[in-house]
Formats: sequence, structure tokens, C-alpha cells
Amino acid sequence: MSLSPFAIIALVLVLARATAELWLSRLNQNYVRAHADEVPLAFREMVDEPTYRRSVDYTLAKGRFGEVVTVFDAALLITLLFSGVLPWAFGKFTAAFRASVWAMAGFLFVTGFALSIIGLPFAWYAQFKLEDRFGFNTTTVKTWVLDRLKGFLLAVLLGFPLLALVLKLIEWTGANWWIWAAVLVVAFQLLLMLIAPAVIMPLFNKFTPLPDGSLRERLFALAQRTDFPTRSIEVMDGSKRSRHSNAFFTGFGRFRKIVLFDTLVAQLAEPELESVLAHEIGHYKRRHVLKLLGVSILGVFIGFAAVAWLARQQWFYRAFGFEYHAGFAAANVVPAMLLFALLAGTISFWFSPLAHFWSRRFEYEADAFARATTVEAQPLIQALRKLTEKNLSNLTPHPLYSGFYYSHPTLLERENALRTGD
Ligand SMILES: [Zn+2]
Repeated sequence: MSLSPFAIIALVLVLARATAELWLSRLNQNYVRAHADEVPLAFREMVDEPTYRRSVDYTLAKGRFGEVVTVFDAALLITLLFSGVLPWAFGKFTAAFRASVWAMAGFLFVTGFALSIIGLPFAWYAQFKLEDRFGFNTTTVKTWVLDRLKGFLLAVLLGFPLLALVLKLIEWTGANWWIWAAVLVVAFQLLLMLIAPAVIMPLFNKFTPLPDGSLRERLFALAQRTDFPTRSIEVMDGSKRSRHSNAFFTGFGRFRKIVLFDTLVAQLAEPELESVLAHEIGHYKRRHVLKLLGVSILGVFIGFAAVAWLARQQWFYRAFGFEYHAGFAAANVVPAMLLFALLAGTISFWFSPLAHFWSRRFEYEADAFARATTVEAQPLIQALRKLTEKNLSNLTPHPLYSGFYYSHPTLLERENALRTGD
């Protein structure tokens, strides 16, 4: 088969991204190996030789696994785009169920489902081989299977009707359908944010109020001192799946709650937990949550505008073997939507250094906030060091690699920023 000019551009985009990812991964692994002989000077007082070796091994193992996934994903994407399997399946679907909105939504849903099935062996390997080898995995097979089933049910109950409604909007609202669709999706996202802590998250984890005692008093005092309205501080059984640790807050306004992983509570001392919470509150106080929400809303509008535009460009889906349906907008929007979803990452990838640069600035701001509220920098530095050590984080990432992939500054960068405030 001969490729149209745009198909060739798409192929180049897919290959360029995969090549860049493989190159960055190699660069990083070589850099880590070059520092692997002894613990770098800056970390000698925080990490012992055996732990450092394990962090090097963990980084290299994840790097190699990532390369396999990158190659597989690129090969899969190229197959999907250029084998004609998507137009063929689309034809079968519309022939079997007629070109109704439900059939269209069904096509997108089944395609997404098939792709997630293809990814399952990798998810399995990551959890039960890779994470397990380094002592992080605590997920049982039962939990793993149940998680996937619950995820699937949520997609059927929430995702599928939303998708059908978006396509229905094309019929109802005409050329400006994408504005209505974006409004609908954003409203749905906000609703989900509102109800998730009460309805969805408990499906996956147990949440228990932090028991009475000095830690609870200390954290509530911090919330009060920083004027952070919260009703409850809860402990989540993160240890059900992994020994990795985390903290976050969720919900809006009065329904906001602070969630600490039980693994975090076990790993950190009280002043350290306080500093981690202060950091999280810093994200809220510096309006990072609102800004990120704003960007995500903007992203939804841009995404739908792009799909609506692409759906009118015959060359776009003809390049991938789809036919143009005159007078039936939804039948053009669906392939455009699918192709957009498949190809968007090949372009957005190149913007990730920019997005991460922005995200790292937020982290510095939250650190500075934590430092100001807990008076001294030491508890947060101590907490960051412990978390780095317990999570076997890479202590010596290549600067270009961390620039591309890290949403957080490296430990040294954060320590230096916290210390210059002293
Ligand atoms: Zn943060």
C-alpha cells in the first residue's frame, strides 16, 4: 500500500518519539552506571552502600522494561494506524449495528477495551515481577484482578454513557458540537472530583480516620495554623498494593480531606509527616490545584476543537484508510476522535519538558511554603531523604532525562533550594 503524505508524517512522529524515548533511556542508564561504583559524596550520610546498589539496580531494571514497552507501543501504534484494522473494524461495527450513536460509542469503547487488554501482560509483569523483585509489591492476584474488573465496570457505567452523550451532541447541536461536548466533559470531570472521594475511591481502598493522639493533634494544628479547611485526616491502606508511599488531599471546600498512605505514616516521624502535609497544603495555598484544573479544562476544549477540525479534513482519515461520510457528522467524528487519541501523545511528548518545568516550579513553591510554616527546613529534608531511600529513587538521573520525565525536582535540587532559605 502507498502512504499519503500525512500518513508519512504520522509515521515519522511515532518513530521520532520512540527513538527519543529509547535514546533518553540509554543516556540515563549509562549515566547511572557511570556513578554506580560508589555512593556519590552528596548522599553518603543518607544512604548506605547496599541500598544505593539496590536503587541503581531498580533504576536500570525499570529502564530496560521501559524500553521494551516503548518498542512494543510504537509497533502496536504503527500496526493500528497502517494495517487497515481500524477502518475494517469500524466498517464491521457500523454494518452490524447500523451507524447509530450507540454503535459508534460501542466501537470506540471496544477499541479502547481491546487496547487495555493488550497492555495487561505488561502491567502484570511490572507489578508481579519488577516491583516484586525489589520488595515493593504487596498486591495479591485477587486484588489485581478485582482492580481491573472494577475499573472496567466504572468505564462501562460512567465512560460509555458519557461517550454516547458526546456523540449525541453532534446530532443535537450541529457544527458547534465540540463546545457543548467540552462543556459536558468538564462538568462530568468536576462532578467526578466531587463524588470520587465518597463513591469511587472507597471501592479500591479503605479509609480510616487518623486515630486520636499526638500525630492527629499536630496535623490538625497545622491545618488550622495555615487556614486550610479540612474536616478529616484519613489513613489509606496503600500497603494493600505497594510499599511505595504518598500523601494527597481530595475533594472540594468543606468536603476536602487529607489522605496519608499507611506506608507513609509508618516510614516517617511526626515532624516529617507534618512537613509533608505542609508541602501538600502549600500546593493548595499557592493555587496549584486550581491552576492545574484550569489547564486541564483548557486541554479538553483544545482537544475537542482539534477533533472537530480534523473531522472535516478528508485527507486526515483517508490517510489511515477511513472513508468520508457526507451528511453524517458522527461517522466522521468517531474516526477523527480515535486517531486523535492515538496520535496526540506523539506531539504532546515534545512538550513534556515544558509541562514538567512548570510542575517543578510548583514543587519548589510548595517546599518553600512548608519551610515557612514548619519554621525549619530540616524535617522536610529528612522526610524527602527517607522517601527517596525507601522508594529506591534514582539518585543520579541524567539532567536531560530528569528534564524530560521528572515532575518533581531531584532530591539535591530540593535540598539546595530549602537550604538557601536558611
Ligand atoms: Zn508536591
